[in-house]
Amino acid sequence: MSKIKAIRGMNDILPDQTPVWQYLEATVQRVLGAYGYSEMRMPIVEQTDLFKRSIGEVTDIVEKEMYTFDDRNGESLTLRPEGTACCVRAGEEHGLLYNQNQRFWYQGPMFRYEKPQKGRYRQFHQIGVEAFGMAGPDIDAEIILISAALWRELGMSDAVVLQLNSLGSNAARAEYREALVAYLREHYDALDEDSQRRLESNPLRILDSKDEGTRAILEQAPRLQDHLDEESRHDFEQLCSMLDEAGIRYEVNPYLVRGLDYYCKTVFEWVTDKLGAQGTVCAGGRYDGLVKQLGGKPTPAVGFAMGVERLILLLETLDVVPADVRQTFDLYLAAEHKGLQHQVILMAEQLRQAVPGLRVRTHCAGLKNIAAKARQTGAPAIALMRADEDKGHQMSLWHDGETEYDLSPDAMIEKLKALFA
Ligand code: ATP
Ligand code: MG
Repeated sequence: MSKIKAIRGMNDILPDQTPVWQYLEATVQRVLGAYGYSEMRMPIVEQTDLFKRSIGEVTDIVEKEMYTFDDRNGESLTLRPEGTACCVRAGEEHGLLYNQNQRFWYQGPMFRYEKPQKGRYRQFHQIGVEAFGMAGPDIDAEIILISAALWRELGMSDAVVLQLNSLGSNAARAEYREALVAYLREHYDALDEDSQRRLESNPLRILDSKDEGTRAILEQAPRLQDHLDEESRHDFEQLCSMLDEAGIRYEVNPYLVRGLDYYCKTVFEWVTDKLGAQGTVCAGGRYDGLVKQLGGKPTPAVGFAMGVERLILLLETLDVVPADVRQTFDLYLAAEHKGLQHQVILMAEQLRQAVPGLRVRTHCAGLKNIAAKARQTGAPAIALMRADEDKGHQMSLWHDGETEYDLSPDAMIEKLKALFA
């Protein structure tokens, strides 16, 4: 019988990888804690309409990437392709948004039916940060500073570049859209097929087309900057000068638009050239219209989402994961001879209780070549237990190239406290 395999593009994260994930997650949690953000946990499945109404009907995600199915009641459900819409839904549903300032973050799996490749999967993970109720560029700056602090904490600041743009107010963007469409219509035949298709449905997306012919046409196209409303222009200038003052480097990229319809004003991406084609590790912006669009009162909002798999790939590529992260236990404890094996479990229990934070892995299998087997585990410390007729249990301890013999349990506890507590 053939064995059942995981779904294409959906990965197991194996125990040799999870320490790096936990390291990243713990760092994120610490950094977000320092900014006073609170975690929100939302379901993985939502009503399909939530995403259609927020992300937009004519976006890649809604047109061709969603995992949508009818449940047993015939209701159309979708595995969430992103978290912002879910976060707004939850915030609205529990009365957390109207007339309030809120700062949330979330993490978890997202699902998109894309062509799996390095850095692009069908189940992937995002960590998202969202701030509600604040309209000014100061919160935009804070949101960007959070991401910059994360790169700093993770040791990857030099590998990522911040790209920044303003999409203007919804009204300004609508006006620009008309000007852009009028211009591109004149050059319709020179556009790539995708862009031709988008011309009516989602023309702003043409701005980030990778097609060379289209890019050449775009050189002369009307520019979004020239159509910005006064408030957006002012806010963008303020944001830039705050980032300057904070020492955050950025590039203004006039072609940066986002793939989701709900963005306005500030948009940004952190991009790396170390991962090949899938170079965007974090993306976000302002979405002042979304809460209202989903049935709430008008509420300004800004946020971003990071792709966890891409961040992990980048950490590994840059080789900046601290060495001890992968070490999941401190002490490997084994019996030296038969008959003592069950004592190992009890002794380990005693050591864990006496030495706060000590991580002990016990040896529960055969004792042949026990010293070599223990060394193979890569443990920073190894203890072998034996029974002495007069003195009770005695242990030998290997650590850092040194060996100590005949340690009583009490002496062992003191020793381990000095080494690991
Ligand atoms: P891309 O242009 O790479 O498709 P996107 O604009 O669709 O990205 P967002 O919806 O803004 O991405 O999601 C934010 C981040 O989540 C991305 O910058 C990326 O790091 C990550 N991400 C998005 N889709 C995937 C995926 N299929 N697999 C892995 N990570 C992803
Ligand atoms: Mg995408």
